[in-house]
Amino acid sequence: MTGQCQDKIALVTGGASGIGRASAIALANEGARVMVADLALEGCQETVDMITAAGGEAAAQTCDVANESAVEALVAHTVKTYGRVDLAFNNAGVGGTMAKTHEYPSDNWDQVLAINLTGVWYCMKYELRQMLAQGGGAIVNTASVAGLIAMSGAPAYVAAKHGVVGLTKSAALEYAKSNIRVNAVCPGGVLTNMTETADKEMPGFLDKLAKHEPMGRLADPKEIASAVVWLCSEGASFMTGHALAVDGGFVAR
Ligand code: NAD
Repeated sequence: MTGQCQDKIALVTGGASGIGRASAIALANEGARVMVADLALEGCQETVDMITAAGGEAAAQTCDVANESAVEALVAHTVKTYGRVDLAFNNAGVGGTMAKTHEYPSDNWDQVLAINLTGVWYCMKYELRQMLAQGGGAIVNTASVAGLIAMSGAPAYVAAKHGVVGLTKSAALEYAKSNIRVNAVCPGGVLTNMTETADKEMPGFLDKLAKHEPMGRLADPKEIASAVVWLCSEGASFMTGHALAVDGGFVAR
């Protein structure tokens, strides 16, 4: 049986843990060969080991998505390794400090915007050049429910994720006739290093997040990964410019 992403080449950022790792594994399970990129090379290698242990094919590459030349080199390395980039999951991100707008530290603002928004744009810029040259592709960006609705105390994160949704929509229009689809996935609360770290800094955070979810629980990263695979697949061939909430009903309130 062939998978939904059979023989495709996928590039995943933030692939060392959480949603990125689960998505890299899910894409490989569906037949893609995956370039797993992250700041954390060791975590990338672990993801690659999980993929190869299951009979898939993947490679690890360190990359800071906030560094344009590193992103350019990552896309070039993927093309050198596998020949093309059919599917790109631009997912690397950080949570940033929790503080109200008037108290938000400026250096933190710059960091969150640089990774969560500019980093996604850098990835798209070089992936799109490659996809245009090869005649098509599909991009999925990780936004968040915080890209669809506001959250008090996270102005940089909310602004960056709203920016990712806007960037996704504008690129979808620009490349709709070039056989390139661009969508965003908007997870609700997911149990990952990001939310576990927030819980250490603010005890009770995970419980509060789970209680706010209509389903009363957080998502497993695999539940986001299956939406990412579908957005990448031919099953989503008429989907572009969409910000898909995978949130247990979070934004339905
Ligand atoms: P995570 O911390 O497990 O994964 C994030 C990964 O991004 C890490 O491996 C980290 O090393 C990597 N990363 C951070 N900065 C980077 C950089 N500059 N360059 C390259 N890699 C970098 O957390 P996660 O929850 O899996 O987060 C993945 C994405 O999902 C993020 O964009 C996050 O904003 C988004 N998201 C998470 C949740 C949630 O509840 N966990 C909800 C909505 C959206």
